[in-house]
Amino acid sequence: MGNGVFFVAEQRDGALRKVSFELASTARKLADALGVEACGIICGSGVSGLAADLGKYGADKVFVVDNAALEPYTTSAHTQAVATVAKDNGAVILLLAASAQGKDLSARLVGKLATGMASDCTEVRIDGGKLVATRPMYSGKCFGEVVIAGSPQMASLRPNVFTAVESGKAGAVTSVNVAIEPGKVKVLEVVKEASGKVDVTEANVIVSGGRGMKDAAGFAVLEELAGVLGGAVGASRAAVDAGWRAQSDQVGQTGKVVSPNLYIACGISGAIQHLAGMSSSKYIVAVNKDAEAPIFARADYGIVDDLFKVVPALTAECKKLVG
Ligand SMILES: Cc1cc2nc3c(=O)[nH]c(=O)nc-3n(C[C@H](O)[C@H](O)[C@H](O)COP(=O)(O)OP(=O)(O)OC[C@H]3O[C@@H](n4cnc5c(N)ncnc54)[C@H](O)[C@@H]3O)c2cc1C
Repeated sequence: MGNGVFFVAEQRDGALRKVSFELASTARKLADALGVEACGIICGSGVSGLAADLGKYGADKVFVVDNAALEPYTTSAHTQAVATVAKDNGAVILLLAASAQGKDLSARLVGKLATGMASDCTEVRIDGGKLVATRPMYSGKCFGEVVIAGSPQMASLRPNVFTAVESGKAGAVTSVNVAIEPGKVKVLEVVKEASGKVDVTEANVIVSGGRGMKDAAGFAVLEELAGVLGGAVGASRAAVDAGWRAQSDQVGQTGKVVSPNLYIACGISGAIQHLAGMSSSKYIVAVNKDAEAPIFARADYGIVDDLFKVVPALTAECKKLVG
């Protein structure tokens, strides 16, 4: 029997990402069910100061691997750091975020630790001393329960689905030295998104547009509504392929998987590949002039009308509510 439920905290530019707190609180729950400790792993350069915050969300211990070789992120360096900490400290479960970075890292870690993983999980629980993970299959058409036979049992958790609970406690922080072997990949340049833009995977509200937006300029009405609601603008693949939005805005099977509290789909038909990326949103509102559009089958609220009439009216009403 190992010693803990471990999770890999994600940080960017010296700040913990929201999903790291969701991982900490979920690890806490699982650790309580097993009667073991919840342990965080944080890797990077100059990241020691971030460890205390993870304790507040449920980590009993936080292992910090602070090494210049870990910044900027590379799969090889982070795999070495996380695998070493997990192995040396007896991780029985290892959780990561199902984010772009988490997906990249988990694939290599599974190989390095010679175990198995359930990806993009929407629920996790302990049954008979084992992790049981619920994950989407066939682009979200159904959900399956998975038990990983290897150890540690690995799972990546879909951001925004699990609740971060502040406990107010402080976890013990341990610095770990890991000798990082140089990898075969060298990062030459990191091209960042324009600052201030909320990433769709972290937004609580997403206003998304599809082919029904007509052109790139059509998205101005969605930008305005998203601005009033403090949300982000997403897009269907049709809108991205047309060059109206950046690929980083794409929601769906080949885009990002999002779980906001509110997803407003405008001029999006609701193809299965789009639904795969947003059907776990808490509330879905669809605006479409075609009453037969498949999106209405998944929507909690539907408006059948021209979005260029509906969205400005919604924005005006929301402005009144928000004040
Ligand atoms: C392997 C694969 C992966 C894919 N991955 C993704 C993915 O990640 N994400 C994704 O989104 N798609 C993905 N697709 C594409 C997907 O199959 C659909 O083609 C795409 O989602 C359609 O985008 P859309 O809903 O914007 O366009 P359409 O299906 O053309 O729908 C446009 C909708 O806008 C409505 N509309 C038009 N004008 C107005 C108006 N003025 N007011 C209100 N409504 C209006 C129409 O009634 C229609 O329902 C993938 C496809 C494949 C094969």
